[in-house]
Amino acid sequence: MSVAKVVSLIGLPGAGKTTLAKALLPRLGSNWTYLGTGEALRASGRSDSALRKQLDGGYMAPETMVRLLVANAIDSCHADGGLILDGFPRSAPQVAFALSHFKAWIVLHLDVRPTVALRRLRSRRLCDDCGASVKAFSLCPDCGSSRSSRRGEDAPEVLQNRFCRERLHLDELLLLLNKTTILEVNGNTPGRTVISRATEVVSSALLTT
Ligand SMILES: [Zn+2]
Repeated sequence: MSVAKVVSLIGLPGAGKTTLAKALLPRLGSNWTYLGTGEALRASGRSDSALRKQLDGGYMAPETMVRLLVANAIDSCHADGGLILDGFPRSAPQVAFALSHFKAWIVLHLDVRPTVALRRLRSRRLCDDCGASVKAFSLCPDCGSSRSSRRGEDAPEVLQNRFCRERLHLDELLLLLNKTTILEVNGNTPGRTVISRATEVVSSALLTT
């Protein structure tokens, strides 16, 4: 189990990690692989009601399940390529896993104001037909469907508490990562600016790792 380079995207829910990760992927090279742990877990949750309940409540998935997803992604990577991890690590055991398995590891913190993130979460939907992220009252960018629903974890009755927990988690995570170099990108700016800035900082960090 080894991969040349790993880039982890961390940040508050609603910061735009998935959009950024998917935009970074082709920009880093054709031998890069993407894993969105949240997306993969939600897919597993379709046939696993206990997991779905946990995710809908805004709670973290079991550590073993998350680690297995990451280990499988590493195995499926090109040996000379890289892996973009969206939403990993999120906990102390996951940081320990990363430090012991990733040879060259870059952490990118997509820093966004909590008010901006909350506003985005309130208008975030998932396409009913293909599962892509969609803005409320918009057509799906991937399949054109007009049918979308709120994620369970974004429901008004769980969002506020979940968001408070996630803010604490992120602060703890940043402390845990104090020995790792963290690249910061301002996520409050327009999407195109975020993508070009992130591409710039990640590309130059990859040159020196
Ligand atoms: Zn769709």
